[in-house]
Amino acid sequence: MKNVTGNKHLVLKTAIVVLVAVIGISLGYVGVGWINSYNVEKVYFDKGEYDLYEGQTVDVTAKTDPFGAKVAYSSNNENVAAVSGNGRITALSQGEAVITAFHKKSGKRATVRVVVMRSKLILNLTVSALDLDVGETYKLQTVSSFSGSEEKPQLKFRSEDTSVAEVSDDGEISAVGRGETTVVVYNEEYGVSKEVSLKVRPLLEKLSFAEGFAEIAVGERYVPQLELFPDGVRDTQVELKTSNDLVAAIVGDGVVGKASGDAFITATNKSSGKSTTMLVRVVRPAASVRVDKTAVSLYEDQYAEVNAEVFPENADNTDVLWTSSDEGVAKVNVVAKGKARIEGVSEGKCTVRAASADTPGVYAEIEVTVSKRQVTKPPQQTENISKETYINGILVVNKTYGLPKNYNEGGGLTAETAAAFEEMKKAAAKDGISLRIASGYRSYNHQKRLFEGYLTRRGQSREYVETYSARPGHSEHQAGVAIDVNMASDAFLGTPAQKWLDKHCVEYGFIIRYPEGKQQYTGFKYEPWHVRYLGKENAEKVSSSGLCLEEYLGITSEYAD
Ligand SMILES: [Zn+2]
Repeated sequence: MKNVTGNKHLVLKTAIVVLVAVIGISLGYVGVGWINSYNVEKVYFDKGEYDLYEGQTVDVTAKTDPFGAKVAYSSNNENVAAVSGNGRITALSQGEAVITAFHKKSGKRATVRVVVMRSKLILNLTVSALDLDVGETYKLQTVSSFSGSEEKPQLKFRSEDTSVAEVSDDGEISAVGRGETTVVVYNEEYGVSKEVSLKVRPLLEKLSFAEGFAEIAVGERYVPQLELFPDGVRDTQVELKTSNDLVAAIVGDGVVGKASGDAFITATNKSSGKSTTMLVRVVRPAASVRVDKTAVSLYEDQYAEVNAEVFPENADNTDVLWTSSDEGVAKVNVVAKGKARIEGVSEGKCTVRAASADTPGVYAEIEVTVSKRQVTKPPQQTENISKETYINGILVVNKTYGLPKNYNEGGGLTAETAAAFEEMKKAAAKDGISLRIASGYRSYNHQKRLFEGYLTRRGQSREYVETYSARPGHSEHQAGVAIDVNMASDAFLGTPAQKWLDKHCVEYGFIIRYPEGKQQYTGFKYEPWHVRYLGKENAEKVSSSGLCLEEYLGITSEYAD
């Protein structure tokens, strides 16, 4: 029941709504008819001309005065521009058309000119040139549009040389072979195209160092040269690595020597993964050689010791090579590391070179002058010698050169000799060595007693006695310039005192007067205890010459009879 009552109400309401609507529409129709039926003063467009691209639309509704009269539209060229009943113009193809709005009742009209232009295809590429490796692909990015249209232009792609690169319908370039070509993006219909220059490079096949080995100095920088095959590879970048950066460090594109040693240097090309290795040896060469004498003067049978040192001290090789520019003038012989003996051979000049054993061009030189010895003739041997002999300022007392019988009688050691011995004695004491005078000054008569005593008491031959004892008048002890140190005995040999004396006596102006192996020159056998005072300068000269005093002065030591 309830439902039936509801339905009755709904039917009534619907009928009322329909009635109101019909009345409204009727009134509206009457109104429009009223407006259309009146004359309008004017029909007009806001603009006189529209420039449109193909496909573009524009609403150009004509206006009337008074407002709101209905007009009809027409195009004089439907192929160029069409117009709808409510004034929407659609540009169709290139050309010109005139659109007319016409008010039938009044006969008023207005026209607008429509110029239709060909659509423009605007095409741009994000690249204009490409470098690719063989096998590489690249998707071309295009930016394209039509002017006045949302439509997406259709584009085609082509490669000028497909042996170099191919390009797919959607613009993916595949580099297939080494060379150059052009990829064209185009739309034939609109006559638009853009080009991409393409260079296709080969892949790196082989990488090698120009040198498999290099030797550099500490601190030196070396830039290894690389050879890449084939030519024209795009990615030529290599990364250098060292097997030992304490020896050879990588700095930029080079290698810097850090310390002596070997290091392997590897170069790797990332994109191809190719690599190569070389050996770099780092050395610390000699920088200079210093010698302790730059000039040496020698007699023909004299020698001098010279020292040379290689710098820096931590150079790989501090050995010295000694050479003489003229072995006919002077020879040079190695004595020890950094020490050599230059021996005079014959009169002349030459140069002795001390060179680094491993670094060419690093050396020092010693100018050597060798002169002939002036042999001094001994004076006539007489029983009573009237005068002592000085040669080169040195008082000479030996078998050839004697002293007057009363020379230095009661004089003792000379003041210089005694003072020098005291100085030496103190120095020795500091080294824990005790030196004392076993025999210093001996007068002519003292020597006579000694010498004759050896002949009579020992029963030794005169010839034998004369190897160790001087005849009176021929002993340095008489001159007060000789001292027998500690003991005049072969037992002295090998004692700490003997060794000290041998090593240091020169520093105090003494020489070992009768050295070992010089008996043929001195006339006496080796006496390690017998020192002769010469003064520091002469003692040094004689000692460094390696000669005994007779050799040094170029004299003999032989009795006349
Ligand atoms: Zn003596």
